[in-house]
Amino acid sequence: MRTPLIAGNWKMHKNSETARDFTREFMKLPRPDDVKICIAAPFTELFALEEMFVGTHLYTAAQNMHFEDEGAYTGEISGHMLKEIGVDYVILGHSERRTYFNESNEIINKKVRQAYKWDIIPIVCCGESLEQREQGLARHIVRHQVVMAFAGISAADVSRSVIAYEPIWAIGTGKVATPQQAEDMCRLIRLTIAEEYSPEVADCVTILYGGSVKPDNAGQIMAMEDIDGALVGGASLDPQSFMDIVNYRKEV
Ligand code: 13P
Repeated sequence: MRTPLIAGNWKMHKNSETARDFTREFMKLPRPDDVKICIAAPFTELFALEEMFVGTHLYTAAQNMHFEDEGAYTGEISGHMLKEIGVDYVILGHSERRTYFNESNEIINKKVRQAYKWDIIPIVCCGESLEQREQGLARHIVRHQVVMAFAGISAADVSRSVIAYEPIWAIGTGKVATPQQAEDMCRLIRLTIAEEYSPEVADCVTILYGGSVKPDNAGQIMAMEDIDGALVGGASLDPQSFMDIVNYRKEV
């Protein structure tokens, strides 16, 4: 059985003081022990979070990384550096990186390979824009993004992966996909992995939905068969609202 994963993506928010305040507060709140919790913090906060999470079932994620180990890449951070401080996951191919930093499917694939090299679990993001959805291209786009991201990756590695379906039109807009829309796309992602690898591999992959997930809609989304978790932006910035999402079963 797949373990639910609730991941918070802080994006470019919080500093060392507010990150620690959040974490102290968050760790005091009651949480289920059968849901994995992960926080994708800015690079500058990852080490502090790692230290605070020692001995807990809380995990850290980076929001990006480079596809080389080291070199003349001013401003970049490598998988090796992340591994050294104990980072567990890395978000790759977020739509904000695809849009503002021109990350292509090829670059994302190189980063996914690099994540496995350093034994960091990638949270690979995919999702269509509103225009693409209106043109009936959503399924084609998402399928293509998934196939490209995992090109050349072994079945064993794919089975440990996390894939996040994040429709661009639902990110930060308050416009959440209906549970059925989210399920249809997450199912498509699982079927794509089944075709490219095998049904057994597809069964192991953790698939998240992201896009305006809040405490009051998390339960309905999490109830869907192919949705194993959530990637949460805005609502992960407040300890209580993020923990309410982690405790999504209470709302069902
Ligand atoms: P929001 O939850 O703020 O819509 O952000 C979603 C997201 O981009 C998470 O990666």
